[in-house]
Amino acid sequence: MTRPLFFLILALSGCPCRGAVFLIGLDGATWDVADPLIRQGRMPNLRKCLAHGARAVLRSSDWTYSPLIWTSIATGKKVAKHGIRDFYVGQRRYTSSDRRCAALWNMLTRQGRTVCSVGYMMTWPVERVAGVMVSDQYFSRLISDQLVYPPDLSLSTPRHKQGRRRALLRLARRLTPFVADPGWEKLPKDSPAYLENLIFWHRLSYALKHDEGFTDIAEELLAKRAYDLFLIHLWGIDLVSHGFWKYQAGARAAPKHPFSRIVPRYYAYIDSLLGRLLRFVGPQDTVIIVSDHGMRARSAADGAAQPYLSGAHHPDGVFAAAGPQVAVVRRQGRVGECDIAPTVLRLLGLPAARDMDGRVLSDILRPGLAAVDDIATYEEPGRPSGSDAAPGTPLSPDELELLKASGYIR
Ligand SMILES: [Zn+2]
Repeated sequence: MTRPLFFLILALSGCPCRGAVFLIGLDGATWDVADPLIRQGRMPNLRKCLAHGARAVLRSSDWTYSPLIWTSIATGKKVAKHGIRDFYVGQRRYTSSDRRCAALWNMLTRQGRTVCSVGYMMTWPVERVAGVMVSDQYFSRLISDQLVYPPDLSLSTPRHKQGRRRALLRLARRLTPFVADPGWEKLPKDSPAYLENLIFWHRLSYALKHDEGFTDIAEELLAKRAYDLFLIHLWGIDLVSHGFWKYQAGARAAPKHPFSRIVPRYYAYIDSLLGRLLRFVGPQDTVIIVSDHGMRARSAADGAAQPYLSGAHHPDGVFAAAGPQVAVVRRQGRVGECDIAPTVLRLLGLPAARDMDGRVLSDILRPGLAAVDDIATYEEPGRPSGSDAAPGTPLSPDELELLKASGYIR
């Protein structure tokens, strides 16, 4: 091809250097656990990202409720503007219909860009996007509709655990020598054995089901085609840290306890999932790894004693970004949860909006990204606002019970 023709094609196809963005959410991840593991070579994929990019502490303005923070990450707006405060309100769940403002997938769709969102928190019912969306409720036993977009999207990853039970148990064995008692539900409710089984099943099996399952789906989708923006939410570090924090070696529990290695081993396992996702990242793409908050030991100040909860949220989460458009820096100032969406837009060559509460993290970006003027807003008239938002679905008794056992109901 002659050079002028080559440049003409580049000019017609837009900025030749513009790559995709992979936004990988690790709920509850903290540098306090990750850093020693990186030094020990047990998180080689995260280490590789850090060697080619920026790192910082993410400090969200309200670190208590994950759905609130993940919605701010996806919208660039605080709760006063987006309206998602928690998992549930009264006896019903918050849903994507309660969100009062546009999220990244809406913004990209309006700009004619493509999105692949897998398991991102508060994405039920799924929304119409230019691309695909797999709801965070995909593996729920209680919801069976509006879990994928487009509605005829067929996935080979089974929705229910039965099809994957053996594989998940094998994974659990890698994390702990604990062997669950098959009849544990009949044990006396106040016995330590009952409690250990409860934590094991409610925490570890759910975490593995979620993270392994959504990574399988992501691989399946990314192998078929590329997207401008890929998002995934991996919840397991948070679930496992809430349940097993006190058993960590060095904590007060006996270091020989079968649960003592779960937290660091789960981080190493998450790194292996990161490695599976990084295989789809091209040389021009950017990877952003972010958590909504960190984790610490639960104290009496965290409210009523809950024997199955020993980790509590800490305000300091993780932020890392890597790719040819990102500078290799250790950023001193903290990154806010609302800074992520405008930064993702900037990396994609799209404008941020002036009604967002965050700003583009320009100090981690390499100079040379084409300037894009901000726009006033991505909002369209007609989006539900507060009281006229859809009422959502009620929680079933089973689900209330699970939320209670998981510590989400106060
Ligand atoms: Zn949590």
